[in-house]
Amino acid sequence: MSNETSERTEKKVAETGPAETKVAFIGLGHMGGPMAANLVAAGYPVTGFDVVPAALVAAAAAGVVVADSSAAAATGADVIVTMLPAGKHVFAAFEGEGSGGGLLAAAKPGALFLECSTIAVEDARTAHEMVVASGHRGLDAPVSGGVVGAEAGTLTFMVGGSEDDFAAAGPLFEVMGKRIVLCGGPGAGQAAKVCNNMILGVSMIAVSEAFVLGEKLGLTHQALYDVAANASGQCWALTTNCPVPGPVPASPANRAYQPGFAGALMAKDLGLAVEALNATGVDAVMGRSAEEIYREFALDGGAGTDFSAIINSIRAASDRAGAD
Ligand code: NAD
Repeated sequence: MSNETSERTEKKVAETGPAETKVAFIGLGHMGGPMAANLVAAGYPVTGFDVVPAALVAAAAAGVVVADSSAAAATGADVIVTMLPAGKHVFAAFEGEGSGGGLLAAAKPGALFLECSTIAVEDARTAHEMVVASGHRGLDAPVSGGVVGAEAGTLTFMVGGSEDDFAAAGPLFEVMGKRIVLCGGPGAGQAAKVCNNMILGVSMIAVSEAFVLGEKLGLTHQALYDVAANASGQCWALTTNCPVPGPVPASPANRAYQPGFAGALMAKDLGLAVEALNATGVDAVMGRSAEEIYREFALDGGAGTDFSAIINSIRAASDRAGAD
């Protein structure tokens, strides 16, 4: 690719309106479906692909033009968004499977890749190298905010890559999100996500253990909440996603622990955290322990419930220990 071609494409993304910026959207599931729909509603022409036919039907109803492969969706696109389950799916979409050809070969020179899936930091760096080696530009841009945030266009984007590419992608992030943070170079978005979710996993377990201890000591949930929410125990796991029903009416505990943020996703994200801990040699007893606890929780029926339902496992294990 000549520098001139790359500069032309970059200018096109940053300086032209939505109608002139063609978007390919790969992965139209719980998150990708509503994110793509918001881009369509903002005036972007979006061509999408998913391996599951039902996802394509829902996307078409939201105005996404459906393609019959990733490569077909990417042909002629200025921006390519991927929102896939894990790193292996991202690599499969990038490189193509069978004779189909992948996104990297199909995209025009200098296209801007926004890799929004939650994947390992190392995988994000590798993905970025593949994008650049193929003559394109790329950002890792994982999100938080869940399906509700994807539907409302209020996601938080944690972004890794260059300032120029970040600026070029800004208008699209602003359609899909509310808080958009450039965290550093390639992989920094995934690094921020994995660190934040390790805090979240550990703090939810800590809050849940404290509530169960409070129960055993005869404290009401409300009394412990009123103290801790205004003292040094204050945190998001307590005051927004409180694991017991009552003190925070909007928390999933009040609706039989329907997610919210599913146990399977917390187990996945902590698995990525442990991968990063192993790669860096960080001594993180709490993070590793949280990963074990949530892995077991997900395998033991908690995958589809909100991650705050971990309190029920802690209570059940405490009752068993008390009975021994
Ligand atoms: P999902 O399983 O609902 O959607 C992923 C979609 O990708 C599926 O529809 C699947 O068919 C499709 N897919 C898989 N391989 C493909 C391929 N090669 N080509 C085209 N499509 C393919 O998952 P989701 O909940 O939308 O999550 C997507 C990503 O966002 C994950 O990495 C997840 O960890 C992350 N995330 C999810 C949430 C959440 O609350 N759901 C929150 C933050 C981040």
